[in-house]
Amino acid sequence: MTADPLLEVNDLHTTFATDAGPARAVDGVSFTVGRGETVGLVGESGCGKSVTALSILRLIDGAGRIEKGSRIVLEGRDLLSLSEREMRGVRGNRVAMIWQEPLSALNPVMTVGDQIAEVARVHAGASRADARAKAVEMLRLVGIADPEQRAHEYPHQLSGGMRQRVVIALALVMSPALLIADEPTTALDVTIQAQILELLAEVQQRMGMSILLITHDLGVVAETASRVIVMYAGEVVEEAGVRELFAAAHHPYTEGLMRAMPRVGGSAERLATIPGAVPPPTDWPHGCRFRERCPYAWELCEREHPPLYQIGDAHRSRCPLAIEPERRNHPHLPIAAATNAGAGA
Ligand code: SF4
Repeated sequence: MTADPLLEVNDLHTTFATDAGPARAVDGVSFTVGRGETVGLVGESGCGKSVTALSILRLIDGAGRIEKGSRIVLEGRDLLSLSEREMRGVRGNRVAMIWQEPLSALNPVMTVGDQIAEVARVHAGASRADARAKAVEMLRLVGIADPEQRAHEYPHQLSGGMRQRVVIALALVMSPALLIADEPTTALDVTIQAQILELLAEVQQRMGMSILLITHDLGVVAETASRVIVMYAGEVVEEAGVRELFAAAHHPYTEGLMRAMPRVGGSAERLATIPGAVPPPTDWPHGCRFRERCPYAWELCEREHPPLYQIGDAHRSRCPLAIEPERRNHPHLPIAAATNAGAGA
């Protein structure tokens, strides 16, 4: 947790009505993002990361609902108490989002310069000339060469990497306090991925905003974030500083994600995968939600839903192995009476 955070998400529950019953996509998630901080939100697809982001922006569609008791506070304002009109003022101005697929975020029949200028005109009331100048300035900021010329081009005339730069420019026009980037590099090839991550780090330093970086790839987080929140089956299972996490992950799911990370010079064929799949959100298992896939599961894991155990100041893990590491070698030891000692929230 961060002192005086920019964003505070507290006990967030987001549920969708489905034919199979309520899907508890986000199920009691709490975390903070500090001012100027980059936080990685990591997990496989179906873990609730993107729904968490959409909840922050209140972009959950008609079938979804943010449950009572959830709190999302940005710059001291409770976003869940704002009217839709007030919320429109928050989106784009204070919080902006970029997505995995840049083409879907861009209008194919408008030049990229016009698209950026339109944001400046509509949100900031800029004159036509000022908005045009702003568009060129933003294209330059995101590292597009010859921005005066590029401003006249349409999205299909640009490469994938350049389109993602334009999307980042669009998101930054209003100097948001928080940028949410949902898998911003997944659709790009490896070299371009590195350039886009570098760009995000650069613009963050220059503009001082915070970034919530959503990814399935711990490698992306290692490059970019200072803190990591790992989600599994709708809840946070581990949270730590990047260095602490890479020095000693405590949750078996995080360990699995680490083993699945490609390494420089490593062979793709030899990458480990986590066996099994994330359970459906209509049917989270009783006890530990990771137990069907966990190599250390024992009887307690089925019986009790583990709390987040505090390890040191800023490291938490939703697994008793954090305080009883010897169980890794003897997973079927009798359950210690004091298993819950030291349990956090
Ligand atoms: Fe594995 Fe049990 Fe820990 Fe869950 S609580 S991660 S099943 S050891």
